[in-house]
Amino acid sequence: MTEINKNKPVMVTGATGYVAGWIVKKLLDEGYTVHAAVRNPDDKEKLKYLDEIALNAKGDIVYFKSDLLSPGSYDEAMKDCELVFHTASPFTSKIKDPQKDLVDPALLGTQNVLDSVNRTESVKRVVLTSSCVAIIGDAKDCQAYPNGTATEEHWNTTSTLHHQPYAYSKTVAEKKAWEINEQQNRWDLVVINPSFVLGPGINPYATSESFNIMKQLGDGTMKSGIPEYYIGTVDVRDLAEAHFQAGFNPDAKGRHIVSAENTSILNLAKYLQNKFGNAYPFPKKVLPKFLIWIMAPMIGLTRKIVKQNIGYEWKVDNSKGIRELGLKYLPTEKTVVDLFQQMIDNGYFKK
Ligand code: NDP
Repeated sequence: MTEINKNKPVMVTGATGYVAGWIVKKLLDEGYTVHAAVRNPDDKEKLKYLDEIALNAKGDIVYFKSDLLSPGSYDEAMKDCELVFHTASPFTSKIKDPQKDLVDPALLGTQNVLDSVNRTESVKRVVLTSSCVAIIGDAKDCQAYPNGTATEEHWNTTSTLHHQPYAYSKTVAEKKAWEINEQQNRWDLVVINPSFVLGPGINPYATSESFNIMKQLGDGTMKSGIPEYYIGTVDVRDLAEAHFQAGFNPDAKGRHIVSAENTSILNLAKYLQNKFGNAYPFPKKVLPKFLIWIMAPMIGLTRKIVKQNIGYEWKVDNSKGIRELGLKYLPTEKTVVDLFQQMIDNGYFKK
């Protein structure tokens, strides 16, 4: 049992991010003082969305300059905190060097944040934003699990630096976090493993990969068809609640798959079609796997990714989060439509 004192500040790493935005909002609305660790506290334009929320909320926000790759740079932000949310980690497909761009910030960053936790006597709990990709590397991996469905007991064993490097970065970072946690007994580690996150952002211009995929569904990139790709999705607002529960529920422990629905990219496109009709060139069909195989290098996929993912069902069991954290999920249709509407309103789809 870990009780968190409500009068102590709570730290959030990567507070400028898409996922963190709603966590910060929830904390501010609940009246907490948020120690927001960001790369550039002088970037007023980037922080204005959080500032606006803080202005109308019960809680306060204080910014600290921290970088995952700068040892000790989280110490100041963590001072007096009992609870630390570690969300910062790059989630982008625009990478040149997977070690430098993904693995180092994820792995060395987690080590760096947890080194600060070890130095900061006040910390009682760390909530780490991991991912379902630390559980499943390729969709085909699900076939090895009972009912083709992954649970919190499973680990991604197939991703490497050169095959699914983002998934690899999340896997090694989460493993490192458990390893560091097990070497002491002052603070406990609670892990959130979200599937693909969708829904409107606090900062509508966030750089998360979540926005790029939605953009491609609406801008015509995929109008002639899409790969038969199965995924899980979760609303960013539900994910914030999951983090909150993981932080403050005294009994929370271990990993938690946070995913509303096992679905497919085609289903997401259908939800958009239902709402917006033919106003946007949404894809309406899946393309045959052999065609995707041929096109792979031109559309930014490797042939191995096509081989191990297209046509294979991706399934996770979300029951632990529902049972132990009391999670409830918004319908995926609402999640997708709300995000798309926000992107329209912000000029993502110029006609
Ligand atoms: P964003 O790109 O919106 O947020 C990433 C955050 O990490 C930003 O705040 C960014 O700061 C920060 N960051 C990146 N590199 C560094 C660095 N070197 N030092 C300090 N901060 C850094 O992505 P998301 O919000 O989507 O991702 C947040 C977390 O959620 C990540 O851990 C991601 O792996 C995880 N996740 C996301 C999913 C999704 O579908 N979106 C699914 C599952 C997990 P800055 O603003 O300065 O760039």
